[in-house]
Amino acid sequence: MIDFGVPNFTFDELTKCSRGGAMAARNRALAKAPEKLASGQCLALLLQVLRDHVASPVDVVCALRYAEQIDGLWYGYDVAVQGDAQGSKSYYPKSQHTRFEAADVHCHGHDLDDVWAWLADECGHPFGQVINERRGGAHWLHVSIPGTSLIDGRWIEGECLSYVHGRKPAFRYERDIADVRARWT
Ligand SMILES: [Zn+2]
Repeated sequence: MIDFGVPNFTFDELTKCSRGGAMAARNRALAKAPEKLASGQCLALLLQVLRDHVASPVDVVCALRYAEQIDGLWYGYDVAVQGDAQGSKSYYPKSQHTRFEAADVHCHGHDLDDVWAWLADECGHPFGQVINERRGGAHWLHVSIPGTSLIDGRWIEGECLSYVHGRKPAFRYERDIADVRARWT
């Protein structure tokens, strides 16, 4: 039984998969790789900071979304979402979710715009990205730990974005990382 040592987030919650069955089992099996567990641990700490701030349950929609390559074909949650559950040649994992570095969350009873602004400007805990995301009627926060971009290799830290799917990011800025680090060292 893996325990991240935080009171409100379990390994099971952070590795659940809405598709269930074999995909959920694979998600959990791959989550136990040491580098993924290390990321998951940091993610659990970040989520706990958020949970402690809102002082009410934080629902994790999904955190780890595994991706693995077998014989030249990619398999995983996002491959299946793209409609290619048989494996994809063209897919490439770009999301921090695939490394257990990100979670999509809801905070019931709280205005997510306010929670996002608090994360971006006040919480002080290191993060990679906090994205205020909307798609259709859905609204959630994507929060991630600092990490290397799988797209262009840049270091992702302190990026704050507000994003409506199908449009360009409406708002984006980067926190003063030196100031944040000074507060945590
Ligand atoms: Zn996300």
